[in-house]
Amino acid sequence: MFDNLTSKFASAFSSLRAKGRLKSGDIDSVAAEIRAALIESDVALDVVESFVTRITDRSLEKLEEVNKGINPSQAIFTIVNEELTAILGGNSRRIRMAKKAPTVIMLTGLQGAGKTSLAGKLALHLKKDGNTPLLVASDLQRPNAVTQLQTVGDSIKVPVFAPEPGNGVGDPVAVAKAGVKFAQEKFYNIVIVDTAGRLGVDRELMQEAIKIRDAVSPDEILFVVDAMVGQDAVRTAQAFQEGVGFDGVVLTKLDGDARGGAALSVLAKTGKPILFASTGEKVEDFDLFYPDRMASRILGMGDIQTLAEQAKRAMDTTTTSRLEEKFAKGEDFTLTDFLSQLEAMKNMGSMSKMLAMLPGAGAIKKQIENFDDNELVRTQAIVQSMTPAERNDPKLLNGSRRARIAKGSGRQVSEVNNLVDRFAGAQKMMKQMRAGAGGKGSPSIPGMPAGMGLPAPAGQKVTPKKKSKSGNPAKRAAEEA
Ligand code: GDP
Repeated sequence: MFDNLTSKFASAFSSLRAKGRLKSGDIDSVAAEIRAALIESDVALDVVESFVTRITDRSLEKLEEVNKGINPSQAIFTIVNEELTAILGGNSRRIRMAKKAPTVIMLTGLQGAGKTSLAGKLALHLKKDGNTPLLVASDLQRPNAVTQLQTVGDSIKVPVFAPEPGNGVGDPVAVAKAGVKFAQEKFYNIVIVDTAGRLGVDRELMQEAIKIRDAVSPDEILFVVDAMVGQDAVRTAQAFQEGVGFDGVVLTKLDGDARGGAALSVLAKTGKPILFASTGEKVEDFDLFYPDRMASRILGMGDIQTLAEQAKRAMDTTTTSRLEEKFAKGEDFTLTDFLSQLEAMKNMGSMSKMLAMLPGAGAIKKQIENFDDNELVRTQAIVQSMTPAERNDPKLLNGSRRARIAKGSGRQVSEVNNLVDRFAGAQKMMKQMRAGAGGKGSPSIPGMPAGMGLPAPAGQKVTPKKKSKSGNPAKRAAEEA
């Protein structure tokens, strides 16, 4: 996701960082690099121009002040981060609930944009928040759209209102209307209406969407758009805005090699915010859209907040509090605890997606892509082959026990040794954290000791702690350079 943009931003800033004190020409050249990167990423031209003008103006205005600071390039980076966050929507917005239930959400967009999948993802998300959603099958055009929605509904245990078979049969407006009535009668508090799309924008599609809109008066009309289609996404968004109108945008297929154009242009071109992002085919591949987090990812700073939230969700509260209690009491973190963490990590979904949220992930893109999710399964098999006593006291693991474990889990003894060594290292680190500052300063991932849960990103530079500034101006200038 946005890989190209991230690497271009990284290269623009690395040349800026090499400069130390900045001149206006330096700002112009970084602006030119950013401009080229945005154009290449399919961002609408007028959006690029105003973005670049804003960062240039703000940077030049502050140039004198910036050069007085210890890190001029960082100050420019902050300006770009702020402007990128603003262009992506500034503050994130969420679904507005109707004063009187049910809240009606209507999904629109072209065929294949991912509406039906999104209906399921959104329903699951809302259900997890304590709502009782109902899915309504008003896409009666696309082959199998109704059965697809029913299958998704079954998998997430959300009821689907589907009185018509679809595949060209049935009146979508009547279905939408009856669906909302059904929700009122049965006290579902949210109705998600899946509507038909066409392969391109046409009058018939718009008319049908308008009729559904007028029949159910949605509280939110969400325009679902495939982020992979580049500039076309903006044109389609504008056509839908003029036709049926919408209140918010959902970007889908952000897991692909989306160049970023749609995400960066859609708000500026339609005035409507992005509410959600879909990042894969599974129902869990869904995120709330946070402009600041997305800007952070595009600028290569990762998205630790989302990662921590996902970990928290995956780890049930009992396990988390048990681990926290153990940690506070000074008890050892055991392989039994590690086993529950492995379970939680499996619940979090694809490891590659999680690793991609780490700061500097761009630099280890290849390793992330090659990460084998089965590694978790193999590690789990090894721990499961240990007796409870061994899990609680790995010191018991002598040669013959290790050989037995390797045999039992179908792995090599070297793999068992490797796991035990890594575990000992993690245990030691936990002890040091407890004894020291307790890992303050960086957001923690619940229940995950560093070095054990997530593999350390190879090749990632660890920035040494900043030394205090020298009192000698000449020496300080040399240090800063
Ligand atoms: P609809 O015609 O708008 O209802 O589109 P569907 O929901 O049927 O989605 C079209 C195709 O895109 C299906 O094969 C989905 O599995 C796939 N899809 C939907 N969302 C995503 C996503 O975020 N990432 C990826 N990779 N595929 C997606």
